[in-house]
Amino acid sequence: LASASASTVRQVKLDRESELRIEVANETPLRLRVLNGNAEIFGTELPPEIWLTFPPRLKFAVFTWYGATIELDGTTETDYTADETPMVSYVNVHAILEGRRHRARASASKDSDTSQGPRVIVVGPTDSGKSTLSRMLLSWAAKQGWKPTFVDLDIGQGSITAPGCIAATPIEMPIDPVEGIPLEMPLVYFFGHATPSNNVDLYRVLVKELAQTLEKQFTGNAESRAAGMVVNTMGWIEGVGYELLLHAIDTFSANVVLVLGQEKLFSLLRDVLKNRPNVDVVKLQKSGGVVSRNTKVRQKARSYRIREYFYGLVNDLSPHSYVANFNDLHVYRIGGGPQAPRSALPIGADPVANPLRLVLVTSDQVQELIHLVLAVSYAEEPEQIISSNVAGFIYVTEVDMGRKQIKYLSPSAGVLPGKYLVAGTLSWIET
Ligand code: ATP
Repeated sequence: LASASASTVRQVKLDRESELRIEVANETPLRLRVLNGNAEIFGTELPPEIWLTFPPRLKFAVFTWYGATIELDGTTETDYTADETPMVSYVNVHAILEGRRHRARASASKDSDTSQGPRVIVVGPTDSGKSTLSRMLLSWAAKQGWKPTFVDLDIGQGSITAPGCIAATPIEMPIDPVEGIPLEMPLVYFFGHATPSNNVDLYRVLVKELAQTLEKQFTGNAESRAAGMVVNTMGWIEGVGYELLLHAIDTFSANVVLVLGQEKLFSLLRDVLKNRPNVDVVKLQKSGGVVSRNTKVRQKARSYRIREYFYGLVNDLSPHSYVANFNDLHVYRIGGGPQAPRSALPIGADPVANPLRLVLVTSDQVQELIHLVLAVSYAEEPEQIISSNVAGFIYVTEVDMGRKQIKYLSPSAGVLPGKYLVAGTLSWIET
């Protein structure tokens, strides 16, 4: 009887350099506050005494450098304290980056090489804590007044916008432990699938587009150049995944490679980058607090992310529903598409699909769009779709082949901010 209703307020005393690891219950939120001392969540300091509400299923740690007392109200899936964490090594990395930012700022008016702050890329296998480390480094930097750029190349479990995208945004304040990254004006490129293997060439092209756009922005902005960037990557580190990591390191001209939790990847990267004197490869320990997620959990997390895009974190948004005629829409797919039939090709020729070909979805194919998330491109002509970033997303709720109409949800009212829509395989079933 007592355990079922254990949602009474309780206190946890944390010693210096220890953390309280929490998985919020699946259905109910958790309230938490710092009673005394100082504590932070993934690099963001918590305000004293103010109750914060954490939504169901969130997994996080409350860490303290000098000791703190935390008060909890509500049930958790698990909560325990740990006094062995890699936080000291993480904050040491931050200190080194900080030094480089100051040096970059001091030489801002000189040549462009020395005025560039650290370009950090975080790599490692799935569930090694890459996103979490990226977040800490960004929040610590923002706390010191820098505005570093966060680049998220993780199309599966990205933290800037909907899944299936690569994106970048400046971090101007320590990241809110509940709300996450503010969605003000992120720079987003739509890949359209949850894994790069659906179209590796397109993934590379989009990474390049994103990097070039950022490069242009940095040219006119000494402040963001000096603050540098933190690039989070996918957990796919074998075969093509490894090639894509090298591609990202090159494309973003990373000068600090942080390798989390895998000796083999560290030694591979150290060897392959050893001739580049300005690139540091650093091995860091994975935190014991990182929660592993299987394929099903990841799939679910993607659904929640899409839901959150339209409805908000706690149902605080209400999307608008619209009906449109097929013929007024211009929906494109990238790559694949119907190939020339074998019979139409010279004998012996392989019908190779062009991975970057734009294929218009015709009115008899509209049924395929049901439950897809479509990106609204800023392109002004179809040829610009691949090189254009996207304004946002719509969700196809119904297709009416008889009336030749589709019904969709949009987060904002009024006409769509772009004429061309892009479809991939990213779908969602509203429950
Ligand atoms: P991916 O495999 O998707 O690339 P990742 O390596 O980026 O994952 P994270 O997303 O950083 O891993 O961490 C996985 C989960 O573990 C997240 O829900 C995160 O909030 C949680 N987590 C990370 N560190 C801790 C910690 N010290 N205590 C409790 N939870 C943690």
